[in-house]
Amino acid sequence: MNPKGKKYLVVSVHDVSPAFGGEVREIVSELKNQKIHKKSILVIPEYQGRYSILKDSEFLSWLYSLREEGDEIVQHGYEHISRNRRYGSFRDYLIGEFFAQGCAEFQNSGYEEARDKIKKGREILSQAGIICEGFIPPGWLMSPEANRAVMDEGFKYTAFIKVVRDYRNGLNVKSEVIRFVPQNRIAEYIKVFYNAYLLRGPLRDKELVRVAIHPQDVRAEKAFDYLVKIIRKLKKERVILTYVDFLNL
Ligand SMILES: [Zn+2]
Repeated sequence: MNPKGKKYLVVSVHDVSPAFGGEVREIVSELKNQKIHKKSILVIPEYQGRYSILKDSEFLSWLYSLREEGDEIVQHGYEHISRNRRYGSFRDYLIGEFFAQGCAEFQNSGYEEARDKIKKGREILSQAGIICEGFIPPGWLMSPEANRAVMDEGFKYTAFIKVVRDYRNGLNVKSEVIRFVPQNRIAEYIKVFYNAYLLRGPLRDKELVRVAIHPQDVRAEKAFDYLVKIIRKLKKERVILTYVDFLNL
């Protein structure tokens, strides 16, 4: 996959939806200012069952303009809310409620339920004229059944917190995602420390580094600045590309 030993960076913008129209536009325009092109744009087809992308033509034109500039549009779940909060273990409960804050739509899904949601989301995107090659679940979390449903729906790849999975050849590319997501001061401090550790240690020589930006990062201004700083630093020694371009290398 990596004939020349080059190193790569995927920048993804999460939770792109008319519900966070202001925040995601701000993120994208700052990334443009920083000459960070070729992003993976994770679109929620119908956030919370209320914010369908089809209802906002301005938002859609903006999405099309990103696609024309070379960004990739990725299906990010269906409505980004977990309606099934029956967790299999206390650990899963902690992950779903505290890490993913009730957004892990596919964490507890059975096969049929997951496939149905994936199809509904995909239908909305295709009505908007958008065909996605990748599917990334909210919170990067999904059950093995949901994973099978995504694969059976013909997506080329997905991404978890620690790996990117190429369904076409079954390969996992190890690369833990760098993210922030403001919660409270202690959690933020730990996150900054942990990201610094990842970048100096486990991720330093990895072929792929991923940085994810969420709308909440803009509301807590420092969080976004912090992520942009990381991207600018990584950009000096890595080629920025989308997930799908990386997997097609
Ligand atoms: Zn999300």
